[in-house]
Amino acid sequence: MGSINPPFQQGQLKPPPIRINLEELDRVKCESCQGEHFDIVWIIHKVPAMLSQTGKEALFPVTYFRCIDCYTVTKIINQS
Ligand SMILES: [Zn+2]
Repeated sequence: MGSINPPFQQGQLKPPPIRINLEELDRVKCESCQGEHFDIVWIIHKVPAMLSQTGKEALFPVTYFRCIDCYTVTKIINQS
């Protein structure tokens, strides 16, 4: 028989753990009041049957971030 291939080693290319000091990072601020604290809110879109993969009307929930101080839903993060 031919030569024996060394066993394929998996998991050898893990990136090194990233060490981040969160205090040094810029924070997203509310466009309206410059607040830095946000709630997650869900907006549930209705997908019409025509556009749904199942052929039936479907619900498509999307998370948004809302400033807890002035209730503005920030558009900074929701760029899609
Ligand atoms: Zn705000």
